Amino acid sequence: MRTILNFIDGDARESSSGRTLDNFEPATGEVYSQVADSDADDIHAAYLAARDAFPAWSKTPASERSSILLDIAGAIEANLQRYAEAESRDTGKPVRLAATVDIPRAVSNLRFFATAILHTASELHATDHEALNYTLRRPRGVAGLISPWNLPLYLLTWKIAPALAAGNTAVAKPSEVTPMTAALLGESCAAAGLPPGVLNIVHGRGSEAGVALTAHPGIGTISFTGGTSTGAEIARTAAPMFKKLSLEMGGKNPNIIFEDADLDRALNESVRSSFANQGQICLCGSRILVQRSVYERFLERFVPLVEKLKTGDPQDPDTTQGAVVSKTHRDKILGYIDLAREEGGRVLCGGSVPEPANERCRNGWFVTPTVIADLPMDCRVNQEEIFGPAVTITPFKDEDEAVAMANCTRYGLAASIWTRDLARAHRMAERIDSGTVWINCWMVRDLRVPFGGMKDSGVGREGGEEALRFFTEPKNVCVKL
Ligand code: NDP
Repeated sequence: MRTILNFIDGDARESSSGRTLDNFEPATGEVYSQVADSDADDIHAAYLAARDAFPAWSKTPASERSSILLDIAGAIEANLQRYAEAESRDTGKPVRLAATVDIPRAVSNLRFFATAILHTASELHATDHEALNYTLRRPRGVAGLISPWNLPLYLLTWKIAPALAAGNTAVAKPSEVTPMTAALLGESCAAAGLPPGVLNIVHGRGSEAGVALTAHPGIGTISFTGGTSTGAEIARTAAPMFKKLSLEMGGKNPNIIFEDADLDRALNESVRSSFANQGQICLCGSRILVQRSVYERFLERFVPLVEKLKTGDPQDPDTTQGAVVSKTHRDKILGYIDLAREEGGRVLCGGSVPEPANERCRNGWFVTPTVIADLPMDCRVNQEEIFGPAVTITPFKDEDEAVAMANCTRYGLAASIWTRDLARAHRMAERIDSGTVWINCWMVRDLRVPFGGMKDSGVGREGGEEALRFFTEPKNVCVKL
């Protein structure tokens, strides 16, 4: 059985304690590899490698850094199927989804920041006729990058690419639940000629390796994507140490359908935005809000479309719904469906564990796509992030009520609005508390836009110029004329 090792200073290394953790395949429920169970010593070793690599990497011309990052992207692309199979095996998502979305988007992350760094500019302010003020941006040093299990390679590269492009070195800690693509990334980095120590990947539990990374005094920049309670814990440690912090956290995103929407498009995209990756995307629309006049018509068509989704073996090309990431997570999702029933909800479809698709998946962790109606907005199921294939659907009267419902949770990550009325679309976009608003679409991505959440969904913005700025320190230089 393979043991996934840390990638430190360009070498594959065991954890310093020699301990490993089981790595499960969600579709089968079986252990299929071991992963290094790292602690503070491993984080420190990775830090030392990153610190020592920083002077040379930060002075490497941007064009050379760019070229190496492009080569890493190329190395991933050349092994796309291998990456997709690894990601599917680790996460339970269909191989087809990983091969068409996750891995290509990881490649795009690297290509985008590899080329963006060639086109960044600094500001110059002419102060009357007295002085010139210009802003010098320099990489910050060793960055700590912590990423979750749902889109493992995509979210890891979303952090690594801008950090390295801007001239930082990094210690990354992927989720211990899904370490395999990060291990492959280490191989691709070595193949692409990334100098040792520039990127170090340390596997292990959040409570050990993650805590040590956050608290390390030499790591002054922390970029985290994960749950809101983990983000709060990280902030508690990092804030008094005055670390620069970016937090991308949970969501409870509204998907708002007005009576004048193109219903066919809204229906099809709502199925995708509710259940893509088994609902385990922070941007999934987990609360569907439908204007009362079309509510019944929407439901009559939506539920049969959801029932048609094929839950099954992620390796089967016809599967649209794979396994959820772990047994604990499956039980949490089923717990929320039970809670929905207790809170007076009506389960319109799903709500259970499906029959195994085949012998291989007999002990896998699957949940049928679930739609729940008749719940008030203030109940727990409508307030808390479920992060699985279970969505609620609720009617609303008019724009004001839609806004009130959309904004009534602690989260503010993303929203979709379906309407043909352009003025309404703009009004709604302005009124909804959320970092991203999609009009008549979902998950359309432009890497140049600032990405992040409002309220308890996030602090700071990633993406495009914002990300490059996050990983640099601006210094104002004032020249007296
Ligand atoms: P977690 O918060 O549990 O974990 C995220 C990462 O943090 C993992 O690598 C984890 O390690 C690590 N970690 C856990 N505890 C600590 C700690 N105390 N200190 C430092 N690191 C720690 O999130 P999940 O992995 O469960 O991911 C799902 C969550 O991520 C959802 O809430 C989802 O909404 C959010 N998310 C947000 C996105 C956004 O862009 N806003 C995008 C994608 C997901 P380990 O797993 O090894 O414990």
